[in-house]
Amino acid sequence: MHIRRRPTKQIQVGPVKIGGNAPISVQSMTIPHPRDVAATLEQVHRLEKAGCELIRVAVPDMEAADALPKIKSQMTVPLIADIHFDHRLALKAAKVVDCVRINPGNIGPWWKTEEVIKAVNDHGIPLRVGVNGGSLEKPLLEKYGYPTAEALAESALNAVHALEDVGFTNMKVSLKASDVHMAIDAYWLFAQQCSYPLHIGITEAGTAMTGAVKSALGLGWLLTQGIGDTLRVSLAADPVEEVKVGFEILKSLELRHRGVNVIACPTCGRVEIDVVKMANELENRLGHITTPITVSVLGCVVNGIGEGKEADIGIAGGQGVGILFKKGKLHKRVPESELLDTLIQEVELMAQEQDSSGGGNTAPHTLHQMAEKSSPPYLLSESASRREIPVLPAK
Ligand code: SF4
Repeated sequence: MHIRRRPTKQIQVGPVKIGGNAPISVQSMTIPHPRDVAATLEQVHRLEKAGCELIRVAVPDMEAADALPKIKSQMTVPLIADIHFDHRLALKAAKVVDCVRINPGNIGPWWKTEEVIKAVNDHGIPLRVGVNGGSLEKPLLEKYGYPTAEALAESALNAVHALEDVGFTNMKVSLKASDVHMAIDAYWLFAQQCSYPLHIGITEAGTAMTGAVKSALGLGWLLTQGIGDTLRVSLAADPVEEVKVGFEILKSLELRHRGVNVIACPTCGRVEIDVVKMANELENRLGHITTPITVSVLGCVVNGIGEGKEADIGIAGGQGVGILFKKGKLHKRVPESELLDTLIQEVELMAQEQDSSGGGNTAPHTLHQMAEKSSPPYLLSESASRREIPVLPAK
C-alpha cells in the first residue's frame, strides 16, 4: 500500500518542518507544572532521548510563563506553549517558545487573538489553532446541539478564515475529540477544505493500552488517507510512552523508519525460549538505537528462520542452544544463556556499520534525511475521495 500524503502548506516550528513533504513528526507534552523547572526538564530530557521531535508545555498561569526561558534554554528540541483562556500568557510565551497553541473556543473576544497574532508575527513563530470537542464556541453548540465532527470542523474553519482575513497564514491546525469516529470525521472534513498542516491526535485517549489502541485506530486511519503532518498520542501514562506509540504507529505504516523494530512470535507449544521476556528486554536495551533495524525473536527453529526472513537479524530458540540469523540465513549457534546478550551486541554492531556507511540500504530515519529523500506530496487516495461528507459553509 502506498500512502499518498495530502498536499499542505509547510510551516516551521524551530528547525522542524511540518507539512508539505516534511516527515510526520512525533510530539509529546510534559506533565509537571512548569514552575517546577527541574521536574519539567527531567521529562524534557527523557523525551528528547526517546526521539520526541517537538515538546509542548502547558502554560496555565504567569508563573508557568515566567519559567519558560529557563526551560527553553536547557532543551534541544523545539518548545511549544499550550495556552487556554488567558491570551496574556501567549503574549509572554511568544517571546521564548517556537510555537504557541491557542484554542479559539476559549481565548475570548477577537481582539485578544489579534494581539496573539501580532506577538507570534513579531517573533516569527507559528500558531497552532487547536480546536477541541470539549470547548466549542457557544453558537456552534447551539447550531449542532452538541459537539459533532461538523461542529469541530466548522469551528476550525471559522478560526482559520478569521486569521486569513487579517493576513495570518503561519499556522497548523488540530481538531481533537476523544471519540475516535468524531475525531476522524472532523479531520477528514477539515482536510477536504483547507491545506494547512494538521496536528493529529485523539484527545484523552486513555491509559497506556487503551489509548494506544484508540490512537492507532484513529491516527492510523487518517494517516493511511494521507492526513496528518505531526502527531501526538495522548496517554494517561509517562509521556515517553506517547513517543514510543507515536513512532510505532508511523513505523507500522512505513511512514517513518526509526530505531529497532522488534518482531516477536506469539509462541506456541513448540516454544524453546522465553520470547516475551527477551522481546521486552530487547526493546528496553536497544531503545538508544536510532538506526532502523528489524530484529526478530522466534520461539523455535521449526518455522523460526523462515518466519524471520523479513528481519535484518534475529534469534530462534533451540534446545539449550539458540540460532542467530541474519536476513533469514544462519549466522551462528549460541548457548541459550548467552543468546540475548549476543543478539544485542550484534544489533549494536549492525547499527554502527550502517551509520558509518551512511545508512547502507536502510531507509532514512532522521527528520533531515527523510525531508531530503521524501517524494512530493500526493493527492488523497481514491477510496478516501469517495467518502461522503456533509457540506460546510464556504468562506
Ligand atoms: S516460531 Fe515456533 S514457537 Fe513461535 S509461534 Fe512459530 S512455531 Fe510457535
